[in-house]
Amino acid sequence: MKTSDVIIIGGGLAGLMSAAVAASRKQFVTVLTYGSGSLPLSSGAIDFLNAKAPDKAIKNLPDYHPYKKIGIKNIEAAAKFFCEVAAQDNLPYNGKLSAQIPIVTAVGTLKYSGLVPESMDASMLADKKKIFVANIKGLKDFYANMLVDNLKKYFPNKTFEIAQLDLNLMGGRDITCMDAAQILTDNEQILASELKSLNATADDAIIIPPLLGVAGNFSRSIVKSQIHADIFETTCLPPSPAGIRIQRAFMNYLQKAGVRFYENTKVVRGVFDGKKVTGVVVETSAREKVFPARKVILATGGFYSGGITMSDFDYPKEPIFDLPVFFPTGAENWSNENLFSDKPQGFSMTGILTNNNLNPVDENGRVLFDNLHVVGANLGGVDFIYERSAGGVAISSAYKAAMI
Ligand SMILES: Cc1cc2nc3c(=O)[nH]c(=O)nc-3n(C[C@H](O)[C@H](O)[C@H](O)COP(=O)(O)OP(=O)(O)OC[C@H]3O[C@@H](n4cnc5c(N)ncnc54)[C@H](O)[C@@H]3O)c2cc1C
Repeated sequence: MKTSDVIIIGGGLAGLMSAAVAASRKQFVTVLTYGSGSLPLSSGAIDFLNAKAPDKAIKNLPDYHPYKKIGIKNIEAAAKFFCEVAAQDNLPYNGKLSAQIPIVTAVGTLKYSGLVPESMDASMLADKKKIFVANIKGLKDFYANMLVDNLKKYFPNKTFEIAQLDLNLMGGRDITCMDAAQILTDNEQILASELKSLNATADDAIIIPPLLGVAGNFSRSIVKSQIHADIFETTCLPPSPAGIRIQRAFMNYLQKAGVRFYENTKVVRGVFDGKKVTGVVVETSAREKVFPARKVILATGGFYSGGITMSDFDYPKEPIFDLPVFFPTGAENWSNENLFSDKPQGFSMTGILTNNNLNPVDENGRVLFDNLHVVGANLGGVDFIYERSAGGVAISSAYKAAMI
């Protein structure tokens, strides 16, 4: 089998981004993955850090933080590259590292994020007089009344109206936002006609759940061209069309770039020559198969996706290369009593430690394999969910690893 310039293990956000960056450098890239990763669960926004100006806050992080190893230039370049890939699939993103943009969550709170899909950017809300919130007949898990009650707390002086829409979604089972987005792809006129009947003006905004198709911004453009008001989407419970749109944009990019993408393919171990990884072994139904590589990027998603496992308490394992895994010692440090407390969760900090090139290191800081790079949720020492940096760390670590 032909030797890949780079093999990427894992096809979540970090794996897809690594593959796209490596392919943009004309490398021969292979992605080996199973499952769908956490993109279908995500809001579609890329969080860099819970701070008013993430770029300034990143500079003040401690040296052990992955962002300090990645470097601000790479983080900025990663954000730009991500937006370019998305834009190529007609999926425009707004944002920059020096500020945060609000999006409206499914329950009507405002969440601030670094990069947000244009279809979710709620910045204009402050200038609107009247806000319509769509209540879709038959749609599960979207409660317009609750959304309005909460959003009113941010905008007490605005007029709100709940718009009852019937998009003919009723079927034999509950309809999720993902179902609705799939149904409305190529059937946008159903939504456009219902929204036109609201007679909303340019001074108004219409908030809808994320059901504007699964293909970039195409469905939104069709609907928007027929109404005067601004229209934007909220987040929703998974599966999330906004996350699927990112996945689709990257898959289209990789396909055009000739990346070999193997789904339902589990990597079970590495092949080594001293401090070099020379290939990886995958499990197939008939036999094991070796994929040779000059460089490997480990993007297997940490605890959430099987990149790190733990059958014995206090002994987390990285199952492919048997890399050392950082975890806070002592059961009392594993978690806070309050899941949503104002402190990080110990279990969420579990992961692999690296040097500045994102090579895995041992407890003394010695590099274990100099052509293996660790990215995304596999990285240890920081609770990305608590500090709201998961997507930013995923794309920027992937960018750096692929550029080395
Ligand atoms: C519910 C939820 C909501 C989120 N929302 C947001 C958000 O709004 N904004 C944000 O910035 N971030 C969000 N995140 C976080 C963000 O999506 C993830 O941190 C980020 O996508 C991590 O990506 P990853 O590629 O490292 O891992 P993952 O997306 O988990 O992908 C890892 C992939 O590797 C595969 N894999 C594992 N082991 C192997 C193996 N042995 N062989 C082959 N493949 C393997 C897995 O099956 C999986 O497909 C959210 C996360 C979750 C769980």
